[in-house]
Amino acid sequence: MSRYSAWAVFKNGFSGQKNWDRQWRDPEPKKEYDVVIVGAGLHGLATAYYLAKNHGIKNIAVLEKGWLGGGNAGRNTTIVRSNYMMPGNRYFYEHSLKLWEELSHELNYNVMFSQRHHVSLFHSPAARDAAARRYNTMRLTDTDGELWDLDTLKKEIPHLNYNNARFPIIGAAVQRRAGSARHDAVAWGYARGADRQGVDIIQNCEVTGVTREDGKVTALETSRGRIGAKKVGFAVAGNTSRLWQMAGLGNLPIESHKLQAFVSEPLKPLLDHVVVYGVGGAHFYISQSDKGGMVFGGDLDWYKSYAQRGNLPVVQDVAECATAIMPCLGRVRLLRHWSGVMDMSMDGSAFICKTPIDNLYLNGGWNYGGFKASPGSGWYFADLIANDRPDPVIEHFDLGRFKRGVIIDERGAGPDPKLHG
Ligand SMILES: Cc1cc2nc3c(=O)[nH]c(=O)nc-3n(C[C@H](O)[C@H](O)[C@H](O)COP(=O)(O)OP(=O)(O)OC[C@H]3O[C@@H](n4cnc5c(N)ncnc54)[C@H](O)[C@@H]3O)c2cc1C
Repeated sequence: MSRYSAWAVFKNGFSGQKNWDRQWRDPEPKKEYDVVIVGAGLHGLATAYYLAKNHGIKNIAVLEKGWLGGGNAGRNTTIVRSNYMMPGNRYFYEHSLKLWEELSHELNYNVMFSQRHHVSLFHSPAARDAAARRYNTMRLTDTDGELWDLDTLKKEIPHLNYNNARFPIIGAAVQRRAGSARHDAVAWGYARGADRQGVDIIQNCEVTGVTREDGKVTALETSRGRIGAKKVGFAVAGNTSRLWQMAGLGNLPIESHKLQAFVSEPLKPLLDHVVVYGVGGAHFYISQSDKGGMVFGGDLDWYKSYAQRGNLPVVQDVAECATAIMPCLGRVRLLRHWSGVMDMSMDGSAFICKTPIDNLYLNGGWNYGGFKASPGSGWYFADLIANDRPDPVIEHFDLGRFKRGVIIDERGAGPDPKLHG
């Protein structure tokens, strides 16, 4: 498979750009693999990529019930940041952000990572104090973070509602290295990178059952037949509890909820940053895509479901937030909106861990924040599967933390998954 480069574009120009290689193959499943990853979202594809690249394992399959990137991977609002404070999250998300910074070169694929700053507004001195604590912790642990006063904010982002807001804006917490990326490109880049190293990505292949013998998983039953596996990793986001039950393991501390996203008609440049607004029950985040569409979202849909569609009350909430914080959006037409199925855990934090079955590994519980996590998640999940022990950075991401009482509750919201939205 050829590398992408300016020279390749030039050379292919002589044949009308018609002779590019396929980005990945469409292989028939083999009888058995050393590692089978279920789910060709960002986490599954990144895991396969790093298993091959970092650990030299080549006989790998990624099984996907639909098309790769058709789940949350291609449905999110693409915010990337590492402004986490809690031990357990802090170093993991920073490692992930560092991988983002090199990802286009690493994958030889333009993932359009744009470090346009993540700007979290605050509306009270108490919120400013909480932000100062979090952002000071970040600075003390080698991450960038700063607080902007109102004058700086007005200069940087002139179109916010500074005059008549129900909750007056008094400043913002900012991470400059944070930003956004193109979600499809990340999935395609990891898929192409994994395929180049011999990973079989098998689409339209739904896992319908898990065969266990002598305490181990030996094969997966799929819509394309039985596929043997020496090791299996689940990376199925909102479907994690379904797969867990297929493996005969009972219930997980996860609920599946819906989250919607919205995009407007394309506009001339209006917003250079990712802006987050959250106060008094409102929750809203917005950025502008490179095509000009305003991309935004709000809270979860507030009830459990596996359906990939949202409901109108949340559309109204999000529209109210949009016009409260950026009144000029009131005249903008909405182009589309959609939803994804979120795997909301009880403490709002993820799982990258071993399971009660020796050769079965779990990656899930990414809640509303798994896009930013995907490079780091793939990196550490691959390491866990290859070496059969967690790296210290992810040892807090296990299921046992609920038994030990050491949950990683970044929002301090308690054991109610929908409050972590
Ligand atoms: C509207 C919305 C906005 C979001 N915004 C952000 C954001 O701004 N920043 C951020 O960091 N995160 C965000 N997220 C969260 C992020 O998108 C997810 O946490 C992340 O994509 C989940 O990991 P994934 O990509 O591997 O999941 P997915 O892409 O959902 O991958 C899982 C795959 O598993 C497949 N699968 C399921 N069951 C089976 C089966 N039985 N057999 C075979 N395959 C199966 C699915 O088809 C799917 O393709 C958002 C999510 C949504 C829905």
